[in-house]
Amino acid sequence: MIRVGFGFDVHQLVEGRELWLGGVLIPHSVGALGHSDADVVLHAICDALLGAVAIGDIGQHFPNTDPRWKDADSKELLKAVVDLLHRNGWSVGNVDCTLVMERPKIMPHVPAMRAAMAPLLKVDIDAVSIKATTNETLGYVGREEGVCAHAVALVQKS
Ligand code: MG
Repeated sequence: MIRVGFGFDVHQLVEGRELWLGGVLIPHSVGALGHSDADVVLHAICDALLGAVAIGDIGQHFPNTDPRWKDADSKELLKAVVDLLHRNGWSVGNVDCTLVMERPKIMPHVPAMRAAMAPLLKVDIDAVSIKATTNETLGYVGREEGVCAHAVALVQKS
């Protein structure tokens, strides 16, 4: 049995915050604002995985009003989501994410992101895809006020 899920996330970009994307700290002049480390890639993938199994969303499992998740490392959130799937008999097939932001260039960081994510997802690195695009200077992403990510995930149960 296979299922697919979709996830989306957005965070504001502000000065004085770190920029975590795909579990990797990216050097940049601004970072993502959020209750946790605000890693949009991992958050979108968490939602895609939860969606595939139809067990809610990241906001339900890790409320941003809960002090436990204040400044949380999103790798821990993804690990918890994958553990939850495993407990329900599901394993991850593959994930594919598109990150949307104007700067900095993302491609140089993609190998590190894939390497960080594969063990958390318990899949081979070739089952983890990260793509990036700009928003062609349009809207809040174009004005560099925010960063967003879209993700799909396939899960399987034997
Ligand atoms: Mg988020």
